[in-house]
Parts: sequence; structure tokens; C-alpha cells
Amino acid sequence: MSTKPIHIIGGGLAGSEAAWQVASAGVPVILHEMRGVRGTDAHKTDGLAELVCSNSFRSDDAETNAVGLLHAEMRLAGSLIMSAGDANQVPAGGALAVDRDGFSNAVTARLDAHPLITIVREEITGLPPEDWDQTIIATGPLTAPSLAEAIAASTGADALAFFDAIAPIIHFDSIDMNVCWFQSRYDKVGPGGTGKDYINCPMDKEQYDAFVQALLDGQKTEFKQWEGTPYFDGCLPIEVMAERGRETLRHGPMKPMGLTNAHNPTVKAYAVVQLRQDNALGTLYNMVGFQTKLKHGEQVDVLRMIPGLENAEFARLGGLHRNTYLNSPTLLDPTLQLKSRHGLRFAGQITGCEGYVESAAIGLLAGRFAAAERLGQQISAPPVTTAFGALLNHITGGHIVSDDEPGKRSFQPMNVNFGLFPVMEAPKVEGKRLRGKEKTVAKKKAMTGRALVDCRAWLGIAEAAQAAE
Ligand SMILES: Cc1cc2nc3c(=O)[nH]c(=O)nc-3n(C[C@H](O)[C@H](O)[C@H](O)COP(=O)(O)OP(=O)(O)OC[C@H]3O[C@@H](n4cnc5c(N)ncnc54)[C@H](O)[C@@H]3O)c2cc1C
Repeated sequence: MSTKPIHIIGGGLAGSEAAWQVASAGVPVILHEMRGVRGTDAHKTDGLAELVCSNSFRSDDAETNAVGLLHAEMRLAGSLIMSAGDANQVPAGGALAVDRDGFSNAVTARLDAHPLITIVREEITGLPPEDWDQTIIATGPLTAPSLAEAIAASTGADALAFFDAIAPIIHFDSIDMNVCWFQSRYDKVGPGGTGKDYINCPMDKEQYDAFVQALLDGQKTEFKQWEGTPYFDGCLPIEVMAERGRETLRHGPMKPMGLTNAHNPTVKAYAVVQLRQDNALGTLYNMVGFQTKLKHGEQVDVLRMIPGLENAEFARLGGLHRNTYLNSPTLLDPTLQLKSRHGLRFAGQITGCEGYVESAAIGLLAGRFAAAERLGQQISAPPVTTAFGALLNHITGGHIVSDDEPGKRSFQPMNVNFGLFPVMEAPKVEGKRLRGKEKTVAKKKAMTGRALVDCRAWLGIAEAAQAAE
């Protein structure tokens, strides 16, 4: 009896990887890609897995870098994107950069040559028909409008965003709690709160004025012509607010009311920046209302002017882009399946990850989940200690949905980073605790070592069993 195919919509980074994983499991695939019939505003070729901007897969260091670890896990899982990337590498120091045409040609040729994969050049304009009982939608940040509208209509008005408005996220352990303090405005407890849910960073008038000036002077990134200027209520970038008047921020996201500095209770702060817990692990905090289009290098310098954030390490910097993506923590189950429609999965950037490698990794997972289901096999989600699991957990569960800003969606796209992993203490060396940079490096090495052991075990790779014995 022949196995029914799995349909994959979109032959970008995620769809190409998903198709490879499904076919590698012995299940036929029909890959529907519209380029060749209809283009997007960013792609320039008809090649599968086209890199629309930079040619870098970022750091290839699997010991101390989270995306390097994700590379390693993908290689263990037989990733097509990683093998085509490795085969088309160009010199880039510690990063994995690729010849973009050679890379895309290699992906296209290998998918084309696979006997279980059929590539159809067509635009899919609505939700898959019922007889496509297993489908993966991997249409990316520039999903064609009619399909995007169909997804929005079936998932609900707030469920699909067309722009992201990203506020920076900071690693908790880089915040100076000798300057900052925990307190909710007016000590409000709220649903699920404690009255001490926010981290507050106080500013006096001089610091506030200097900060506003730096925002006004800072270089901003421009919108691409086709992006328009998507400013909507409640999501104005901080520098745009600063342009509207020097006091605007003090009456907006930096208002000091209802907050008392625990370190200096008698002095009222002139302005306060608030940070809110972003993940259930408590390792990441987002800057409330601080979406910004400042250039990334400049953003770090300006945000480190905030008292208590002088040494802040950013898990993600702010931005505002055209980006079609789902409110995945609400909509998807842990295997990337739409809770409201069995057999319909999403993969890639449309699920709320960010970047070529992350999108391909989520494609890899969606492909494996769908193939296992088609074959009647049990498959569990990868452990959260792995880069696969940490990223998947951000998308489908780990992010804390904020309910104190009605009408705003707190889930925003994210690259893989160590803040998404359960914390691990740095091992002691000769009985002594490490400090500073040595401690940070040792901690990362411990986390990546744990991740690779757990990833091998999840993939059922033989050495894992041996290592565990
Ligand atoms: C302008 C821009 C610049 C970027 N720069 C970078 C960068 O420098 N580095 C980085 O890591 N990431 C970058 N990204 C993010 C990057 O696009 C994604 O991380 C990655 O390409 C997403 O992979 P994906 O497979 O989800 O989507 P894509 O790679 O975009 O693939 C989606 C595919 O679906 C197809 N498609 C869409 N709608 C339909 C439809 N209805 N029917 C059939 N096919 C359809 C598209 O043609 C496309 O081939 C950028 C994104 C944009 C928009």
C-alpha cells in the first residue's frame, strides 16, 4: 500500500528542510512553491531556500554559542540546510557563511532529485483542502496575501500579525539589582501576579534628558519601500515618541507613578524604565513599551545609559519589520500543529522564530512530527535542554503571555539564545567557583554539553546510549 503524501506549502528555509526530513523518513512529499509563478517583495530568484539578505548562518561555535549549538544539533538530525551550507561555505571567521547561489542550487537539486519529493510551482491561495490530511504551512514572513487572509480568518483577528514591533529582551543575570528593584505599579497584584512582577530602573532628570537626546540623535533603520510605515496605536517606537516631545516618554512607557525606589525610598524617580519577565524560566526580561528602530549597535549604547542596565546583555534587540507570524503559544500544540485543525502544522518564521537557521530548525521538527504521525509512530518534543527544544518551547509554551496590556500581543519573534534554556551553574574548577568571563564561558559549555547529550538521546543516536551508560 502506498503512503499518502504530506503537503508542504512554501519552499523556503523551513519548507525545504521539512520536505527533506519527511522524505528521509520514507514518506512522499508534495512541495508547493509559488516562486516561478509569483514572486515576493524580497526574493530575487526561483531557487528553493533563497537567502533574502545576508549570506550568514551566524556563529558555528557549538560550545559557547546558541546558534552554533543549533547547527550541531541539525547536523546530527541529518539536516539538508546544514549539509548544503557546509558544502557551499565561504570564509567568514567563526561564522558559517555560504555562497548564496551555490547553497540554494544545492538545496533545489537535492530536493528535485529525491524520488519521494514532487515540487509543484503554484501559489496556494487558501487553507489546504480537507483531503490534504497532513499539511505543513511554511510560507514565511512574506506569506502571499490570500493565504495570509485565510489563516487570519480561521485563527482569529489577533492570531496573525503582519508586522512585528519588537522591544529588546535582556538576560536577567546582567541586570544590576543593586540599582533596580522589583515592584508592580501601585503594588497591583493582578491575575497571577505578586505585586512585585516588574524590574524597575530609575532615572533622575539629568539622566532622562541625556537619554532622550541620545534617542533623538541615534541613527535609525529605514523601512523598505514596500514595508510602508506600520505605526499603530500603542506600538510607537520610543524614538518616535521622543520626537513628539521631550516629556512624551515620561507620560508613556517611562512614567514613574506608583513606584518607590526600594534602594532610595525618599527620592522620587523622574522616570522609570520597566522590565517584565518574558519566559517561564525567569531568565529573560523584556523592556516594556520599548519597541525601537534604532540601529542595533547604537541601541546597545543608548539602552546601556539606563541605570542598572550599564552591563545589560541583550537576548534580542528591538526592531519593527513586515513579518507575518502566528500567536503560536496560544494556537499551536507542542508538535507545531494547529490546535483547532488536526494534521495542519506550521513551520519556519511564521511560527515566531527569527532567522534562517531557526526557521530551518523548526521546519526540521515539523517535518519529523508530521512524518512520525503519518507512519503511526510515537514522537515526543525534543527536551527543553536542547537548542531544538528551547526554541520550540519559546514558540509553543515557554513565553509568558502578558495580560496587563489589553489589545497588545506580547509574543514576538526570537532568535535562539541561552536565555531560552534552563539555567545551569558553571562547574567549579579544583573546588573553586569561577568568576567573570571564565564563569560565563564555563556555564555555556556546560549547557551545550548537556544539550548535545540530550539531543543525541532524543534522536536515538547510538553513542548517546553508550555515553549515558
Ligand atoms: C527583507 C528580509 C530580510 C531578512 N534578512 C535576514 C538575514 O539577513 N538573516 C536571517 O537569518 N534572516 C533574515 N530574514 C528572515 C528570513 O527571511 C527568515 O528567517 C527565513 O527566510 C524564513 O524562512 P521561512 O522558510 O520561514 O520563509 P522563507 O524563506 O521566506 O520561505 C517561504 C517560502 O514560501 C513561499 N510562499 C509564500 N506564500 C506562498 C503561497 N501562498 N503559496 C506557495 N508558496 C508561498 C515563498 O515564495 C517562499 O519561498 C529576513 C527576512 C526579510 C523579509
